[in-house]
Amino acid sequence: PRGPLPQQPPAEPAEIPVVGRAGELQADSISAWFGHHQVLDRVSLTMPAGHVTALIGPSGCGKSTFLRILNRMHEMVPSAALAGEVRLDGQDIYDPALRITTARREIGMVFQKPNPFPAMSIQDNVTAGLQLTGTKKSKADKEALIEKSLRRAGLWNEVKDRLRQPGGGLSGGQQQRLCIARSLAVQPRVLLMDEPCSALDPTSTRRVEETIKELAGEVTVVIVTHNMQQAARVSDQCAFFLAEQGTPGVIVEWGDTDAMFNSPQDPRTFDYVNGRF
Ligand code: ADP
Ligand code: MG
Repeated sequence: PRGPLPQQPPAEPAEIPVVGRAGELQADSISAWFGHHQVLDRVSLTMPAGHVTALIGPSGCGKSTFLRILNRMHEMVPSAALAGEVRLDGQDIYDPALRITTARREIGMVFQKPNPFPAMSIQDNVTAGLQLTGTKKSKADKEALIEKSLRRAGLWNEVKDRLRQPGGGLSGGQQQRLCIARSLAVQPRVLLMDEPCSALDPTSTRRVEETIKELAGEVTVVIVTHNMQQAARVSDQCAFFLAEQGTPGVIVEWGDTDAMFNSPQDPRTFDYVNGRF
């Protein structure tokens, strides 16, 4: 009789190859459901490395769902189902061998309502994501990272003398930039932003927009916005989502932002960007 087969060593978790820092994100034929309710139908979109892509369209057409699929948050809803593929620099982020924390570290998310840990100090808020993703750093490295992240988020000068004060003491706009700094501290290749300015006043909105424009090149940004002027100001390309009469959301048209605003190909895009619905 033959002896037992030799044990296979456990497979190494897959890693996403680093090609520069900003990554190209590619969504391929994404369909999504909540229970039996289909909310996206075969949506494909390439979000080029280092560019800003704006997702626009009326509410309820699946923009947030699409964004959450891009960093594996959709699957946190028990009734949610998904078809299609998402690749970051060619690596399938839904590959079972890829850790979910790796996907989330590479693809960060900023939400509509700023959500810093209010009682935690500003500096600890910035590094909070490092613990979650299991990244260990020396004290000096941490201090350098805190400064760098706050500078990139456009907040350093406003908070450098109060780093030990609680994050909850900042204004709404500062809190949102603190959340951006927290996302940047784990050095993501993509930053997803779901209506990051809709809870902010116009001045704070401008500061966040400046931050987004400065991040372009280093990070790939995907931003959902209801504000057409904002889409025009910050994005290189736009994707127009629409869900007509109870049908699931689709991308009607996407492309260069100037072309989408000045010479849209679809009359529905024209109506939307001109505020007709
Ligand atoms: P948008 O961001 O464009 O406003 P959403 O992605 O939030 O659109 O929603 C798309 C559709 O999915 C809507 O019909 C919404 O009611 C539904 N939906 C969103 N989240 C959930 C959820 N957690 N459970 C069930 N249905 C949901
Ligand atoms: Mg939404």
